[in-house]
Amino acid sequence: MSNPDKAQETADNDIINDELTNIQGECPKCGSDNLEYGCSKPYDNQIAYPYTCADCDFEGSERYCLSFIGHTDADGKDLV
Ligand SMILES: [Zn+2]
Repeated sequence: MSNPDKAQETADNDIINDELTNIQGECPKCGSDNLEYGCSKPYDNQIAYPYTCADCDFEGSERYCLSFIGHTDADGKDLV
């Protein structure tokens, strides 16, 4: 699976050695964007995307909050 949403990647990219970062789409340990994502897992109102960094083998998950935005029909069309 590819990166679920690369568009929101922040430009704030100051990586200091020995300090973990918290940037979407980047390994928190080495800063690589070469993450291999697994299947998403739901947690209440969150989705977690587990990944393994292809550069340093760090394993972690990216977490996303889910928020209700409305109903659709079976074809995905908005009802209102
Ligand atoms: Zn890494």
